Amino acid sequence: MKAFFSEHQSKHAPALELQNGELVPHAESQARVEAIKAVLPDLSVPQDFGLDPILAVHDAGYVTFLQRAHADWVAAGRPGDAFPYVFPIRGRRPLGFKRIDAELGQYAYDCGTPVAAGTWETVYWSAQSALSALEYVWGGARQAFAFCRPPGHHAGRDYMGGYSYLNHAAICAEQALTHGASRVAILDVDYHHGNGTQDIFYERAEVLTISLHADPATDYPFYWGHADETGAGAGAGAALNLPMPRGTGWAAYQIKMAEALERVQAFDPDLLIVPFGADTYAGDPISFFSIETAEYTDMAAMIAALDLPTLICMEGGYAVEALGANVSAFVDGFGG
Ligand SMILES: [Zn+2]
Repeated sequence: MKAFFSEHQSKHAPALELQNGELVPHAESQARVEAIKAVLPDLSVPQDFGLDPILAVHDAGYVTFLQRAHADWVAAGRPGDAFPYVFPIRGRRPLGFKRIDAELGQYAYDCGTPVAAGTWETVYWSAQSALSALEYVWGGARQAFAFCRPPGHHAGRDYMGGYSYLNHAAICAEQALTHGASRVAILDVDYHHGNGTQDIFYERAEVLTISLHADPATDYPFYWGHADETGAGAGAGAALNLPMPRGTGWAAYQIKMAEALERVQAFDPDLLIVPFGADTYAGDPISFFSIETAEYTDMAAMIAALDLPTLICMEGGYAVEALGANVSAFVDGFGG
């Protein structure tokens, strides 16, 4: 399968994250990049589509913040990566903040998503990889693999979180809609709920967001991804959440997958976008499903059977030693 990746996407290298009360090595590491590169021999350099497709989804102030946050952090005399530590729970009024700490909290919802020196360069090119894969599919190919890194599905219009800064799937959905698509379906199969994607399109009828994920009652991101979130306004009914308990294996997962695919089919989209996380894997160090490597081929084959133009966006997957094999198994399900 044709895959897109830029070497610029290796520049993002945050050192630490705050997880369960401890500062630990950041799980979204360069080792992930090497593991995936090893199994994608046909990597293409992305085109540069510029900022416009990014700004069609993300708030301009947020994008500017991402570009300069680390420099502002260094200018404030701080070491390491830029971390927020205070968050505005009563909404994000435009108060014209000057201090970097206030801005970090305004644009973040967790402490797992620091802004490092190379973050902007990496996320900009990750978006370009996704847009290039979209262009390839929109030009008539059946599918393409956007080797996005870091993940994107937790990023909303004006916030970062869950290792995500720009929402690649949302940027591609919006780009497809402005280039002739009438309806786009997004089928998120990462272990974690795709809360940013859902939030961006929650009141839109032309984008169906479906997410299969760990029950937010027990797992990140907790506040979103519950079964009763189904869209609002014009988007009422255009969001589907299929949470599953910890320990879920392929036998139970595929029943939910069949339900999801039925919804996609009924929606009759012009394009299917699949945010794919290999963190549903049995050996994932931060997740708790029990899908085995070979079963990713079965999962992908079910999706491929829809016979829709399909764009895969790489999301999570933190069992580095098995990540290449898991990605490879998933790609194989589309016919290699
Ligand atoms: Zn995940």
